Amino acid sequence: MAIALAVKPYGRRFQQPLQTAHGLWTWRRGAILQLSNDQGHTAYGEIAPLPWFGSETLGAALDFCHSLGGQLTKTVPQDLPATQFAVETALAALGGLSPAPIQGDLDICGLLPAGQAGLQRWRPLVAQGTRTLKWKIGVWPVEQELAWMEQLGQQLPPPCRLRLDANGGLTVAMAQRWLAACDRLNAAPQGCTVEYLEQPLPPAQFEAMQHLAQGFKTAIALDESVATVAQLQACHRQGWPGVYGVKPAIAGSPDHLRRFWRQSAAPLVFSSVFETVVGRRAALDLAAAYHQERGTTTALGFGTQGAFGDDWDTLTPEQLWQRL
Ligand code: MG
Repeated sequence: MAIALAVKPYGRRFQQPLQTAHGLWTWRRGAILQLSNDQGHTAYGEIAPLPWFGSETLGAALDFCHSLGGQLTKTVPQDLPATQFAVETALAALGGLSPAPIQGDLDICGLLPAGQAGLQRWRPLVAQGTRTLKWKIGVWPVEQELAWMEQLGQQLPPPCRLRLDANGGLTVAMAQRWLAACDRLNAAPQGCTVEYLEQPLPPAQFEAMQHLAQGFKTAIALDESVATVAQLQACHRQGWPGVYGVKPAIAGSPDHLRRFWRQSAAPLVFSSVFETVVGRRAALDLAAAYHQERGTTTALGFGTQGAFGDDWDTLTPEQLWQRL
């Protein structure tokens, strides 16, 4: 059956540019693709690349789509994981294989701004029912941030939980200080607990992170280290004992991701790459399937609604396609 493919790039401006390990992120650029079959059915997929996380660039994704000449005639190569996700989720939807949405009761992790601002920002989030909060660290001097964490640990009411995300920005000595502080807080929590420390060191220092994981009780989650399913498998083969953070929109084939979690006991935590409604629905469907199969309720890192100065979060995929 012939499947027609059309693609439209998009750009969304963040209300507040995001501080990342690679500088300020002001525009989220990606593309929506539309697949149509000769029975008149249509489905959408989203290419939301994150090149500094190891995915292809938007340019490479668009080059591949344009090379198809309007027809889906070949499978997407492995080195285009964000495009793979877009095409395969759209194909599944076109074939009626998308699961019914079961997103209502998923617990979403809230995002705190880095630094002292986080000490105030948690209040409205917790008031709205958020119980898991992510706070970026490694931005200010470690002494200062540890003192703020101490305060957060006392302020946040139980059963709140903190996820600390270093984006690979710590040294081994700094990571040891953080983990020791987390262990102390978790041993005698006055308020919240720390669920895990995410990606303390850069991906190249995998062995050092394994040593850290063995030396402390607080879990370590890998994130930058496991951007694609191939990297998830590699870390699992090397015996990673902690949590695996997964961003489905850049991980590659959803089928391969499902196979990975069905064949391993690796605990996964799903998160967003600031997709539009198209990628978000597909990624949350995968997360919901994982949670259902595993019977877990770990909070999802999808607290990204309202990050842009537009009304796209209120649109359906069809409406968004028309808008582009
Ligand atoms: Mg992270």
